This record gives sequence, C-alpha cells and structure tokens, in this order.
Amino acid sequence: MDLSDFVRKLRAGEGEPPGVVEACHRQPPRPARLQPFPDWVEPRLKSAVEARGIVELYSHQRQAADLLHARRDVVVATGTASGKSLCYHLPVLDGLVREGLDARALYVFPTKALARDQMAELERLLLGVGRPDLTVAVYDGDTPPPIRQALRDRGALVLTNPHMLHAGILPNHTKWQGLFAGLRTIVVDELHTLSGIYGSHVANVLRRLQRICRHYGSNPVFCGASATISNPGEHGKRLFERPVEVVDEDGSPRGAKHFLFLNPRLLSEASGLRVPASEAARQLGGELLQSGLQTIFFARSRNGTEVLLKYLRDEAGKRHVDQQQVAGYRGGYLPELRRKIERGLRDGSIKTVVSTSALELGVDIGSLDVCVLVGYPGTVSSTFQRAGRVGRRTQESAVVFVARSAAMDQYLMHDPGYLFDAPREQVSIDPDNAIILTNHVRCAAFELPFADGDGFGQAPGVADVLTFLAQDLGVLVHQGGRWHYASDTYPAEGVSLNAADLDNVTIQDVESRKVLAEIDRPSAIVEVHQGAIYGLQGETYLVERLDWHDRRAFVRKVDADYYTEADTETEVRVLRIDETQPHAGYDAHRGEVHVSTLAKAFKKIKFYSRENVGIGDINLPPEEFDTEACALALRPELVARLGLQRGGEASCLHGVGELLQGLVPLFLHVDPGDVRVLAEVLHPHFEAPTLVLYDRVPCGVGLAERLFHTHREILRAALGVAEKCRCRSGCPGCIGPAPSLGNRSKSVAVAILRAMLAESR
Ligand SMILES: [Zn+2]
Repeated sequence: MDLSDFVRKLRAGEGEPPGVVEACHRQPPRPARLQPFPDWVEPRLKSAVEARGIVELYSHQRQAADLLHARRDVVVATGTASGKSLCYHLPVLDGLVREGLDARALYVFPTKALARDQMAELERLLLGVGRPDLTVAVYDGDTPPPIRQALRDRGALVLTNPHMLHAGILPNHTKWQGLFAGLRTIVVDELHTLSGIYGSHVANVLRRLQRICRHYGSNPVFCGASATISNPGEHGKRLFERPVEVVDEDGSPRGAKHFLFLNPRLLSEASGLRVPASEAARQLGGELLQSGLQTIFFARSRNGTEVLLKYLRDEAGKRHVDQQQVAGYRGGYLPELRRKIERGLRDGSIKTVVSTSALELGVDIGSLDVCVLVGYPGTVSSTFQRAGRVGRRTQESAVVFVARSAAMDQYLMHDPGYLFDAPREQVSIDPDNAIILTNHVRCAAFELPFADGDGFGQAPGVADVLTFLAQDLGVLVHQGGRWHYASDTYPAEGVSLNAADLDNVTIQDVESRKVLAEIDRPSAIVEVHQGAIYGLQGETYLVERLDWHDRRAFVRKVDADYYTEADTETEVRVLRIDETQPHAGYDAHRGEVHVSTLAKAFKKIKFYSRENVGIGDINLPPEEFDTEACALALRPELVARLGLQRGGEASCLHGVGELLQGLVPLFLHVDPGDVRVLAEVLHPHFEAPTLVLYDRVPCGVGLAERLFHTHREILRAALGVAEKCRCRSGCPGCIGPAPSLGNRSKSVAVAILRAMLAESR
C-alpha cells in the first residue's frame, strides 16, 4: 500500500476503518524558490557547501544571509526542515574563514541534542574549507574539562544552551575574555520555545550577555530562528531588545500534504462517547505497520505515549512485523537511547515512532510519510510543527488528526477551517516580571558591578531593584557610585531558568541498579508515586518506592496488564485582589492566588478494556506555587434566581468549568497546560459559586489578566457549544461526561451561562 492508497482507503471508509473522515484538506505542493549564492561568500566556503549537494539557496536563506552579512539583526521564521541553519552558517563561516578569531560566534540551542546535531554539520563544512584549525565545540554539562579550557582560549564557534550560558559562561566571563572580545554573531535557535516564564528568564540572560559583550568592546549581531508563529518580529524584538528584520517567506519546496480529520466511531449518541482516540490510533497503526510507510504518532502525554507504544508493539507481534521497528520517544529517556532512535528513523530501520512533543523540535530524524495526531496537540503552531515532520521535499505525505471526545477536538472536527485560517499563536514573555528581573540583576551585579545610572537592557526601575538588593537582601554594597556584589554565594546557582531543570527525580531499576530515565518533580507526584506503573519503551515497571528526599524512584520490571492514573485535588487560596468588575449576574476579579495540588489516590486501569481494576493511596506532600488568577464569582441574586443553593444544582458549575477549560486555550492561543479552570461550588473567599481561571506557572505570565478582559467572549462561545451539542445530559464534547444531576445537568449549566451573559441591569 502506498501513500495515495492509504489516503484513498481511509477517506472512502474501506475495510474496517476506526472512524469517519469528517473533513479533508489538501495543502498544494509548492515549488522551490531558488537564488544563486551571494557574491560575498568566500569561494572555498561556497565550494564546501556545494560539495554537500547545495548548489543554490532557497530565497529565504539568501535574504537572511545577506541581512546578517550587512550586520542587521534578523529573525527567520519558516517551516520545519526549510534549511534555517544555512541562513546563519553562511555569514558566520564566511567571517571565520576570512578573519579567524576576530569573527567568533556563539550559538544557543534549547537542547543539547540540537547543539550536537549542528556541530557535526559545522565540522564537515570547516573541514571542507581547509580550516580544521578553527575549533567548533559544544559547551554543555557533558563537555570534559580539558576541552573546556581549549574552547575558552581558542573556540571560534561555541554551541551551548541557555542554562550553561546562565550558570557556566556568564559568571565566569573573565575566562571567556577571548570569545567575548571577538564575538561577532549570536544565534538563538528555536526562538518559539522561549515563551512564558522560561522565555522571560532567557530574555534576561541575553541582557546579561549583551552587557558583558559591551564590557569587552564587542557588539555582535543577533540571529533568531523560529518555527512559524504569528509574532516573530515582536518576539525577537523583546528578546534581543533591538529592532529586527523578519524573514518569513519560505522558499523551500513542499510536496502535497493531505490533512484527514478522523472522528472515531460514536458508541452512543446520547452519551456522546466515542471509541477512544488511542484505540482508533492502534487500528490505524496496525495497517500502517504492514504498509511499510514510515509513521510518527504524536500522543498528548508521556503516559499516552507509553500506552500507545505498548499497543503498537502488540499489534506488530500479531502481524508478524519485527517489534524493534516500533519505538517510543519522549523527554526523560536517556540521551543514548534517544540518539539510537533518531538514527533508526533516519536510516529507516525504525518504521513507527510514538512521541510526545519532544520530536516537535528540529532534531534530525529525516522525514517520514504519515503523521498521526492522537488528540489535538493544543495549539495551531504545534499542530503544524508536528505535521512538518512528514513529507520528503517534493513527496506527498499525510497527516491524520484522530479526535478525542473532548470539546476542543470535536469543535475542530466540525470546524477544521480553524486550523488553516486562524492566526498562529503568539509567543509572549514578560522580561520585566519583578521576581525574574530581580534575580537576574543580582546575577548581573555578580558578573560586573553596576554604576549609578546604569541600565539593564530596557528594564524599568533598575535603581529600585539595586536598592532592594542592597538594603533588603544585603547582597550588594553601594560605594563610590557603584554597586558591588558582597555576598559569598554564587547567585546563578540559586536561579533556575526552568522549574523543570531543578530537582529531577531519577528512576532506578532495583535489579540492575541502573538509572532508566528521569522525570520532573511536578510530574513525579502523579507518575512515579509508590504503586504506580511506569511505562518505558513498551515495558512496564512497578514503582516500589519513591524516595522524595533524595529524588529517586525505585522500580522493578513487571508484566502488568494495567496502567495507573493519579487523581489530584487542587485548592486555590486568594492572596490579593487587584481589580474588580461588576457584571449583571457575577463579579469578575483579578488578583494573586496560592495554588496547592495534592495527589491523594490512584486508579489501576486495564489495558484495552480500560476497566478500573483497583485503587491505592498516595502519600506525598503537595506541589505549591503563587500565581495570577481571574475569578468569576456568582452574585447572590443569580444564585437565588436559579435555585443553585438547592440540592446540588450548583455542582453544574463543574460542567461550565469543564467547557471553559476546553475553549480557553483556543481563544488565548496558548497551550492547554498554560491555564487551568477550577469550578468551586462554594468558594471560601467569595462565599459564592465561583470559576477560578489561573496561570499554571509560578508568578503568572499575564494570561489571567487577558482573561479578565476577554472572558465574556469565551462565555458566549461556551454557551454556543452547549446549545448546539446534540447530547441530552452532557458529554465530553460540551460540559463533560459525568453529569451529577442526570438530565438536568446540561440545562442548569446552560442557564448559568445565559444568566452570566445577560447585560447589566
Ligand atoms: Zn454534549
């Protein structure tokens, strides 16, 4: 079966398809737009690139390279696999070949894997120009000490990640004097991943970097490379704090791509329940395994990845296909395993891979034939990043979106135009967030003292921050018009760019004593608590013990026929109200809250049948943080009028919350994990039924504030979805599946929404 057979059969519903193709969209092929190499490229470099099979440039490569050569700051925002790296390799290598160490460059990649990928290519090019003396090397946690020393002295091109820049390079800038003095270009790749809290930290690391460059007399040009997002220029400008030229007309060729919207079979119309997306994906996977088409499945979670991987391995076994052709891929796997899988995908020995978002980034895995999205990835950008993993240059490819019963997925099944017409998500950061800024001013003062009147990038109120660090924290001393660092602690160590960096829990096999994987702390409480089943490459491990203090989980390989799912309870306490806006039936508040999440118990769920086969307790401390929230508290008049205080009617607010949870990410254009909606029948602070919508990261990134101003638009959409849904008493496509009041649940939820939307009296 070739690709067009696969697409035709699925559309026609031939054989026993796992569902109905509700819509199709064909993205037409696009020819390459080519341009010759610019005249300024050094002839030996041109030959070296040509020897790699590149005889002409794509138009965006030429445009970006010319701009960088002219020392203009640039952001390149084109599709996956469009050859973004050549845009900056050309001017950087040209400078190095002509001027050697006076034209050094620093490349910042979000992950070690990407940096190592690029290094191999750069070494080949430098060898091609006959300059093996120019050292290119990765500086990360795995770089051995002797190489570190050589790199500091003679490194022409240093590849690193934001964390190493923050904690390794900048605090030790005197050792890197040569690099900073001769630094001509700074490249920041995968710019779109620098969002939210993490992006806000990195923006401050870049402020520190620019400060150090000025100190050594260099003024490097910046190049950012990003996936397609809706605001590449604005995002680049905020990160680099300088005007940037945007190059976003993609000149690379593309084969035709078929998007198929597959809705799994409805089990019952009244309940709105469908065949689970993972089950539909398994059936699809079986066919694909036999076809020989190289396929990537994207699951929504780590657990989802492991469960589907097990199903597909079983499927391969049944069909006499080598099970080694099926692999999983996700964060937490050790680097050697990930490299092995990447190689297998490139050389074709792995035919099917199941991944989390981990393979969304530019890790080189070649290019596959079919992409199956098991559930909506959550954002338009992410959907197209994943879809970009398939289609070899001009070859046809297919993307199958398998819907879950959830509101968001069903909404898209019936309105697929959303994906193709809606703008891509905006990436937003807040580098001036008080906590983040204070931390980095402290790190910056350690690196070089501030003089009175010194700024810190474009940050406001730097003088106040310095005063606070001196007077309240006592870590700075003000003397002779300068602010000196005066503490014996090393500040960068206490500042994590990404909460997930710190405190990872390692997962250790009790038999072999080997470390199998790692997991971040917030996920550990629900995935590796004692009694959990931890999936890894299709095998199941029982967690015998979680040592919370030492951050280690001890597991034993077992042949479990179930997986586990933890239930969590979340409590939101109001710390401060900043603003209140009265509406007809409710008050909207905006302010700061304390969120505490406790994992209390877990369920054992049988593979395939999804039967609940047991429960257990979890005894771990809660995960806690402060953040921003928007709360919608119903007024007593409305509560009385709808009779919400009577026998459990107020519990229908949970349905409204469920519905909003599904729609908020679509309206804010953010990841579903970024905002949480909590419905409380009687919130202790407001003493009323309340919907609390909060930013799911410490300190918040301004989403709650946007909700405070735009939530009525989302309430209207929610009412539309509930009214149009054909279910009787609630379903996963609207207010959720477990109606507490039977048939009345939906009508009460609809009544609450209508009353909230009524105009002011
Ligand atoms: Zn419904």
